[in-house]
Amino acid sequence: MTIVVFVKITPDTARLGADPRSGEPRIQQAPCRISTFDENALEEAVRLAEAHGGRVIVISLSHAAPPRELLLKALAMGADEIRMITDPSAREADALATATILSRALRLLGDFDVALCGEGSIDEYGRQVGPRIAEAMGIPVVTRVEKAEAGTGTFVVDRVLEDRIETVEARLPVLLTVGAEINQPRLPTVLQILGASRKPIIEWSLADLGFEKGSVAAMAGVRTIEINAPGDDRQGALIPGESAVEMAGNLAHELAVKGLAGSR
Ligand SMILES: Cc1cc2nc3c(=O)[nH]c(=O)nc-3n(C[C@H](O)[C@H](O)[C@H](O)COP(=O)(O)OP(=O)(O)OC[C@H]3O[C@@H](n4cnc5c(N)ncnc54)[C@H](O)[C@@H]3O)c2cc1C
Repeated sequence: MTIVVFVKITPDTARLGADPRSGEPRIQQAPCRISTFDENALEEAVRLAEAHGGRVIVISLSHAAPPRELLLKALAMGADEIRMITDPSAREADALATATILSRALRLLGDFDVALCGEGSIDEYGRQVGPRIAEAMGIPVVTRVEKAEAGTGTFVVDRVLEDRIETVEARLPVLLTVGAEINQPRLPTVLQILGASRKPIIEWSLADLGFEKGSVAAMAGVRTIEINAPGDDRQGALIPGESAVEMAGNLAHELAVKGLAGSR
């Protein structure tokens, strides 16, 4: 079985600060990480390969070479190889351009059985790239997958929704998108980390994929004008009191005065 995982290297949003005056996020200063749900996608791919045999290939697109330790982490988690597409013009990519590039890369790889994406990336969370890749490839897509089992020429998957669990069967090749609920990504062992540096990281340029200079901007139909942190309207009020009971009473009084709570 050939399993492809799309992995996005993103700024670590948990460690992303914002300029206190302009509210603009300080993206360049934030350390990078593998987008969280993509770690789940990779974990699921490795589990499928362990259960059924096969190879796990990671494809990633970035505007700049990502920190090597992140690529080694993906390999240490169990990926067999990485196809890294790096081009400064990836900055101008929207979901359409990203999916167009990634689907071209998938086609160049050749036959595959299943492709996995995160449900959404932790930075942009557009939730478009997976379904758009499937559309470009003309293959079925199942989103919000929480359990995946390989059948004969098919995949049987559970989609867990708010009010029900759907079990669906999709023919191969198929693209699945997953979130945090599907598994707990493994922490690689020291041996796996040491072994990772012997696995291949193959660099692809946009030219290798047949794109001409300037084509990313031409493909992108959505342009982000501005990104700002939402305003912080917390008041930081301290509720006085000598005991928990007194503090609770004062809190109730404060909420009632502000009209936020009270007895009928
Ligand atoms: C202001 C701005 C600045 C940007 N700067 C950069 C930049 O500096 N560098 C850069 O590379 N891009 C940049 N982009 C492109 C952008 O971050 C996304 O790659 C693109 O818009 C996809 O949207 P998303 O992350 O919401 O995808 P989603 O649809 O939320 O992603 C879902 C899943 O698709 C897969 N996926 C998505 N993107 C990639 C990827 N690039 N590689 C592999 N798998 C992927 C992952 O599995 C991911 O979990 C920028 C975009 C904007 C608007």
